[in-house]
Formats: sequence, structure tokens, C-alpha cells
Amino acid sequence: MSPRILIIEDEPAIADTLRYALRTEGFAPEWHATGRAGLAALGGPGEPVALVLLDVGLPDTNGFDLCRTIRARSPVPVLFLTARGGEIDRVLGLELGGDDYVTKPFSPREVTARVKAILRRGTQPATCNVIRYKPEGSDFAMDEERHEAHFCGQPLELTRYEYRLLLALLARPGRVFSRDELMTAAWDDPGSSLDRTVDAHIKTLRAKLRAVAPDANPIQTHRGIGYALKPGRSGRPA
Ligand code: CA
Repeated sequence: MSPRILIIEDEPAIADTLRYALRTEGFAPEWHATGRAGLAALGGPGEPVALVLLDVGLPDTNGFDLCRTIRARSPVPVLFLTARGGEIDRVLGLELGGDDYVTKPFSPREVTARVKAILRRGTQPATCNVIRYKPEGSDFAMDEERHEAHFCGQPLELTRYEYRLLLALLARPGRVFSRDELMTAAWDDPGSSLDRTVDAHIKTLRAKLRAVAPDANPIQTHRGIGYALKPGRSGRPA
């Protein structure tokens, strides 16, 4: 099945070019000229949408607001289509949750290359078993079925306990977990371990995250209590 791509763009000539280029590359593109129609298609029946190409200047809304709405409903990747200048600053400067952007005029090849790159990063249409969470400056994706964890698009090689600790933290982002709670969540035999065992595994987990994104530091220490994930956006799809 070809990956379904929504093009939300009000200029027919641009939409046609994109449709042709995407179809040639084996995608199933679908054009919507307004934000309202695009949003309806995203939540409508049919194959899950693999990616949204989103024009910033739309007749009924703007791409920034629409991206926020999309984000509140779905973890689908969003590639912005922007004019040069101020629009790019806004795409980069706001916490919109867009995955990338291209500036107009663009070559169709540039767009299809970006689309492929985003889909390769592991942001394929999320199934119910994928947890997405984006603390500021970073991005977690955990596939419970495959037992895989990605951080900022990079696969993580985690031990069993590191994986379970991360899963426990991701289950309730922002909530502070005590060491006891984490141990109960992650260990088969929690009574046999010490608080500092949790600390030791958090330390190695943090080192692995730091190797991917040195400044993100998504796991926060709450002195005297335990650990929590930094605030961000979650995305367990409905
Ligand atoms: Ca436009």
C-alpha cells in the first residue's frame, strides 16, 4: 500500500506539481485546498495518513494554527511549505511541532527527498502501540510491540531496565515518580533492589540520551522525590 500523503495547499499549480512528483515516487498523494478539508481528511476514514504537506498561507486558516490543531489530534509528521522570509522564522521559532520545512519556490525533487527522509526517521504512521512524546528540544518514539525506542529519530540500544524505566516515565509525562514507583514499574522483583539501583539505571539511560542530543536532558531529577520527564507534547494516537 502506498503511503498516503495529504497536501494542504490552496494553489492548484503547486498542488499539481507535488501530486505528480509524489505519485512518481510511489506515494498516494491527496490534495485539499483548505485547512478545513485537510483536517477532515486527516480524521476521516481510510488509510492512516503518513505525512502532511502543509502550506502556511491558506484561505481559511494559517498553517501554524492548523499544525497546532493537527498536533493535538495526531502525531503524523508535518512538512511545512513556506514562502521565504518571516514565515520561515515563525516555523523555526515557534513550538509548532512541524518536522521540517521547504521554502517556495521549491523543486519537486527537494520535497520528495524531504518526505522520504522524514518517513525514514521512523515517524511512519503511528499505530496504537507507538508512544510519541516531545519534551522541549527532543522527541521520543517507543514501539511497545517491537520493543524499540527512538530518541530524536535515532534508535536507542537500551537494557531491559532502561527500557522499562523510560516506558514508565513516558506513560505519565511530567508526573514525578518516586524511586519506589519506578522500581515497581520496571523490576520483576522490586523488593530485592535498592533505591540507588534506579539511580544507576537512570544514569546510564541519561548517558545514552546525551549521546544522541547533548543538550536535551529530558529526564529531570526532583530532589528527595525521584524523576520526571520534562514537559512537552504527547502523541498516543486515538
Ligand atoms: Ca498558499
